[in-house]
Amino acid sequence: MGTEIIRYYENYTPVADITVIATCIVFVILIYNAYINKNKSFLYLRFIIGSLAISAIFDLLYHIAMNYVGGINNLLIYLPRAAYHIGLFTVMWLYVLYTKEVMGLDKKAGRPYFYAAAVAWIAIVGYETVGTYLHFGFYIDENLNVHRGFPIFPVGYIYYVVLIAVMVFLNRSKFIKQVIISMAETVGVSIAIMGIQQLHNQSSFTTVTFLFPIYALLYHIHSSPYDVETGSVSEHAFFDFVELAKLKEEEYYFLSMYMHDFEGKGRKYPRTIQRAVRYFSTRFFKSATLFQISGGHMILVVNINKNPGYKEKSQWMLDEFLTVYPQYRIDYKIVFFGMDKRIEDGIDYINFVRFIHDSIPQNTIVRADKNDVDRYMRNKYIVFELEDIIKKNDLNDPRVLVYCQPVYNIRTGKFDTAEALMRMQLPAMGMIYPDVFIPIAEKKDYISMLTKIILSKTCRAIKELMEKGYNVKRISVNFSVYDMRADDFCETVEAIIGSSGVPFDKVAIELTESQNEQDFELIKTRISELKGSGIKFYLDDFGTGYSNFERIMELPFDIVKFDRSLVMASGNDERYRTMVSNLARMFREVHYSVLYEGIENEEDEKRCIEMSAKYLQGYKYSKPIPIERLTDYFEKIG
Ligand code: C2E
Ligand code: CA
Ligand code: CA
Repeated sequence: MGTEIIRYYENYTPVADITVIATCIVFVILIYNAYINKNKSFLYLRFIIGSLAISAIFDLLYHIAMNYVGGINNLLIYLPRAAYHIGLFTVMWLYVLYTKEVMGLDKKAGRPYFYAAAVAWIAIVGYETVGTYLHFGFYIDENLNVHRGFPIFPVGYIYYVVLIAVMVFLNRSKFIKQVIISMAETVGVSIAIMGIQQLHNQSSFTTVTFLFPIYALLYHIHSSPYDVETGSVSEHAFFDFVELAKLKEEEYYFLSMYMHDFEGKGRKYPRTIQRAVRYFSTRFFKSATLFQISGGHMILVVNINKNPGYKEKSQWMLDEFLTVYPQYRIDYKIVFFGMDKRIEDGIDYINFVRFIHDSIPQNTIVRADKNDVDRYMRNKYIVFELEDIIKKNDLNDPRVLVYCQPVYNIRTGKFDTAEALMRMQLPAMGMIYPDVFIPIAEKKDYISMLTKIILSKTCRAIKELMEKGYNVKRISVNFSVYDMRADDFCETVEAIIGSSGVPFDKVAIELTESQNEQDFELIKTRISELKGSGIKFYLDDFGTGYSNFERIMELPFDIVKFDRSLVMASGNDERYRTMVSNLARMFREVHYSVLYEGIENEEDEKRCIEMSAKYLQGYKYSKPIPIERLTDYFEKIG
């Protein structure tokens, strides 16, 4: 009698629990000091470590109590024992939540697992506590005999292991295979340890088995090695960092440094730069983290609460940087910015910085503010809509509008041609103009879809005007050099015009000059390929680039559009006037028609007529109007 308690204690060794407690302390030290990928799942991992340490402490206390107070005060046994078991099953529950989070299951997909884990937790904890209280579970009787009741502990343990295994199996496509394999093997080791200790009637190592998955997770998912040379961590760490910062509503200040020379793989910083990076990232702020976003892009993240004077400090940092900078002779772009609720995540922050980079020259420093975020958000929205336009692939897309500017024909004294000008009508922004969206569309390669839409809509409008009896000589459409680069350029253009039923000579294409030799050759080929069909070609914006008369003569354009800047210059300066007038005459003599753009008043009109003009276009006649309203300008003949 009473021997069972003694035997129980003899089979217990505190070594295991002490190991667990010590290991948890080591984890805490690592987490605090090393950079670890701290995303949302990491929060669970922290709770797992905490709960496990608490369980191990109570397991120790429970066994000590068994030894010293068994029979004297059983409550001192029951309480730590309950806490020990509650702690371990809380760990199990947290493992389920962790798995749910790390697999990225959404609310709906995660719900069954959440309930399966919660119900089991309540059942197990309920059985343990009520069972002890009502003496159908674990309790010690007056004779100091230990009654165990139903072996709820191993059953619960297996239940959770199976639950997590099922969860991982059913969603295995959502997760990295290597991690699943190594987790399975790790859990295998845990189960083996459980088996071995069972054979020896032991229970000391139970808590130890809960440690192994933590090792595996820290290693596989949360480890983020430092670049030993600069002391930075990776781009992915940055994504996780931002996610957690948003979740915890912590405020950070970002100092971004971009050096184009080091962009692209395989470029290592020279020693001097490595040293400078280490110096600048550690010298000025308390516990700032340096992220290496790409070869030439680093972002230093500063916790605002820990660095109340961060604004002045960042200025000191800049001052010092500018004094040492000349020795490195490397181009840079520096952007400082705070957090902004509208920026969603790490990728969004990086896109924001890149957006700023695109709008500033080399060797500039900017402190980005709300207005920059506004601009970025608008840009992002336009990209979003453009992507949708590409996806829908609808030549009738209502977001792309065709405006038109009628062109005055001097010989006939009538408006019989026009230029199609694109506008976009976006739900959240209203009407936007080409100077805003064309650069975005060209940069992201969305322009060709827009061109197809505007060409198709223009053809349809020409057809309608002709059917209503209007005299439409032709309408020109602006094309970008990106359009010309497509291999199927000619087929596409011919297919769109052909299927509209409009004669090919009713359509013209406006192109601007290109400095680039390849593009020049390309334009030459494209024009000769399409000319045969009757399509006319305009050289747009003559006088704005490095216009080279001889080269232009190599291209079989029909009409040369003199840019508004030449019209203005010829009005202000006699020498310009002579030059423009001679150029126009030369073009006319070699059978190019001359069109002047940007005619705003009678003076412009008169002067340009004297300077060999055939066509005039500008606000004097009309601002751009919706294409249907060309009926107000074109002559009705039928
Ligand atoms: P652009 O081809 O040189 O078009 C002429 C621009 O000058 C038009 O601006 C027009 O509104 C403006 N303009 C016309 N008359 C006057 C005037 O008397 N005074 C002044 N100050 N300006 C005048 P918009 O419509 O904003 O277009 C700007 C540019 O966007 C165009 O310049 C063209 O390069 C581009 N763009 C427009 N539509 C398209 C398109 O469908 N595709 C492509 N690739 N580019 C387009
Ligand atoms: Ca144009
Ligand atoms: Ca133009």
